[in-house]
Amino acid sequence: MPTLDRRTFLAGASAGIGASAAALGLPAPAWGQGSGEVDIVVVGAGAAGIAAARRIAAAGRRVVIVEASDRIGGRCATDTRIFGVPIDRGAHWLWGADVNPVTKLAAGTGLDVYAAPPGQRLRIGRRYGRESELEDFLAVLVRTNRAIVEAARGKADVACQQVLPKDLLDWRPTVDFVLGPLPYGKELRELSAVDVSKAMERDTPAFCRQGAGALLARLADGLTVRLSTPATKINTWVRGKVEVDTPRGTLVARAVIVTASTNVMTAGKIRFDPELPKRHLDAFSRLALGSQDHVFLEFDGAPLGPQRDDLIVEKADGPDTAAMLANVSGTTLCMIQLGGKLGRDLSGKGEAAMVDWSKDWLAKLYGADIKKAVRRTYATRWAQDPWVMGAASAASIGGAGSRTALTEPVRDRVWFAGEAVHETQWGTVNGAWLSGERAAEAAMRKFGWITTPRPAGEPREAPKRPRRQPTAQPSRPASPPGLSWPF
Ligand SMILES: Cc1cc2nc3c(=O)[nH]c(=O)nc-3n(C[C@H](O)[C@H](O)[C@H](O)COP(=O)(O)OP(=O)(O)OC[C@H]3O[C@@H](n4cnc5c(N)ncnc54)[C@H](O)[C@@H]3O)c2cc1C
Repeated sequence: MPTLDRRTFLAGASAGIGASAAALGLPAPAWGQGSGEVDIVVVGAGAAGIAAARRIAAAGRRVVIVEASDRIGGRCATDTRIFGVPIDRGAHWLWGADVNPVTKLAAGTGLDVYAAPPGQRLRIGRRYGRESELEDFLAVLVRTNRAIVEAARGKADVACQQVLPKDLLDWRPTVDFVLGPLPYGKELRELSAVDVSKAMERDTPAFCRQGAGALLARLADGLTVRLSTPATKINTWVRGKVEVDTPRGTLVARAVIVTASTNVMTAGKIRFDPELPKRHLDAFSRLALGSQDHVFLEFDGAPLGPQRDDLIVEKADGPDTAAMLANVSGTTLCMIQLGGKLGRDLSGKGEAAMVDWSKDWLAKLYGADIKKAVRRTYATRWAQDPWVMGAASAASIGGAGSRTALTEPVRDRVWFAGEAVHETQWGTVNGAWLSGERAAEAAMRKFGWITTPRPAGEPREAPKRPRRQPTAQPSRPASPPGLSWPF
């Protein structure tokens, strides 16, 4: 994929001119004040939208992305201004690095993508867990995972919480967090056993030193993106055409690929004329977003130890718990991960409440002095982002089939893509990416614009892998014993 200088690209994008299409050797979309005609309009410049647009452009078709916010990346959002070093406000882990389409493409961007350390640490009060305690915890996780998978084979879907083994004893709050709010942003009582058991294992992660959002922006180089241009209405009355209204004008195309989050769709921020089928509307509401946020604390020195990217989970004594990534990419920043009900409540109260809770939690684990070492702080509040409105989808009980429903086009002109639309990689960047490619291919195949599945060199759909059971990891020298469990 030819790339443009990022500054030039952004200037071109905000002017709404198809200069980047020219760089791709494509006809520039014919639109001046924001109106015009292209082959396919993509709504949203997150992972799914970028993947879809790249696929369409690679097939030699005219594509434009309209993006409501003023930046590229959606829930992949890197900030460098707050602390002077990159922080990922959204996705940070690139799961399944060996098969992840985004990680594979990263090789051509010049950005530094490195394998995340394999182990995680368990904090028990003011000390790290011993080998025997880790073994206990792992055994409990194995049994719980197995129970969820077994339950999913039953006739009726149930909540994950309903099938938990009865003898989890004092591990119960930790299991609740590690299998619920941490990976999926919802409590186990809200999570469908079928949906969770289908979710592909999240292992072998990689990090991008410059940030996952920076990586996504790089992968959008060469595409025509109209920032600050929300799609407000999608009209499919005219045969063979779709009209996409934005405050800057109307775009006409053969098809539109909509990648807005399920909560944005349920909120009715895009009007459809005629209305979407009930099947699609129900699917969006059954795939509501959970709550996940990051609280960043910058320290004087490295009070959490010298090792970078240590993931720490506590043996919790109740539902109010969190996880922490310490010394992110070798900086003095730590990233506290809040999720589920606690995260939602704190985010509702505001950034100060999130930061205060996080400092108190750290003081409980490392002693009160650690609070004195905190310099600057920052917390995300994804539920308050008007164009995302939450973290990632997780199906309600009985709702897992909604993901397949959303792969069906509407009137052969509207396709949906995004993390919620992937049956096994939902809630991830890789799932969003693959769903975007899939929607683009389905639309182009419909119009006879492609006959082959994908051009040589483009990544293929990641193979399905069964859920792995947690295992003990050999610990790194001079560090406490480590764990690895599937998130
Ligand atoms: C805190 C947090 C941590 C996460 N951690 C990880 C992780 O470590 N690893 C991982 O794989 N995944 C993670 N995820 C999930 C991952 O970020 C998402 O699954 C993925 O980025 C979603 O991509 P998408 O393209 O489906 O949607 P989005 O990224 O939401 O993109 C949709 C885009 O559409 C735009 N839009 C919305 N409405 C309109 C409109 N009307 N007109 C035009 N544009 C519109 C939005 O502004 C947005 O840019 C995390 C998410 C959060 C919030």
